[in-house]
Amino acid sequence: MPLDISRIKALCFDVDGTLSDTDDQYAARFARLLSPFTAILPHRDPNKAARWLVMAMESPANRLFGLPDRLGLDDELHRLGEWLHRERPSNHHFQLIDGIQAALETLRPYYPMTIVTARGPRGTDAFLQQFHLRQYFAGVASSQTTPRTKPYPDPILWSAAQTNVDPHECLMIGDTTVDIRAGRAAGSQTVGVLSGFGEESELIAAGADAILPSVAELPHLLAK
Ligand SMILES: [Mg+2]
Repeated sequence: MPLDISRIKALCFDVDGTLSDTDDQYAARFARLLSPFTAILPHRDPNKAARWLVMAMESPANRLFGLPDRLGLDDELHRLGEWLHRERPSNHHFQLIDGIQAALETLRPYYPMTIVTARGPRGTDAFLQQFHLRQYFAGVASSQTTPRTKPYPDPILWSAAQTNVDPHECLMIGDTTVDIRAGRAAGSQTVGVLSGFGEESELIAAGADAILPSVAELPHLLAK
């Protein structure tokens, strides 16, 4: 369904793959270790699988939502993931996707904005603090804010209440089908971004109202 821009009164942003880029160095190391399993990985692509796993390890809730299905993970591979997680350097820093700060600055006068992430509250705060982004958001829904997180609509309904808009006036922006499903379940419109792990075809199939290369293009889309 084409996006109805006139309906949008508030913006809800996912974090991982939408505002925050995955640690590419870590993912590359992971991909090397996954390469013997190439034959059983989706698209036979260890790089993509590695990025998925890195994200899943940062967002424990995501493990519940079809990750093993998606990756065709067997127990051994899962144990490898656990081992890598333990080996991960503790001084991990986030990376911001290019153009995010400028986009948020452009959008701020026009829309109240919230965070809707399945990441835990500490990781979410650490990300927002590292880039001084907290100032842009009227509310932050992490994995602990509502009893159920994405793909349930609860954090988007919470965000709508925080910004005094109806859920159907919200636009949920995210990089995976979990974001699109949550948005649709809330009655919101959705934009899928290709800066993370989602494929364009699967985001469209999940019902995304628009697809963008990244959030950096969102001001341009909404200005139309
Ligand atoms: Mg994401």
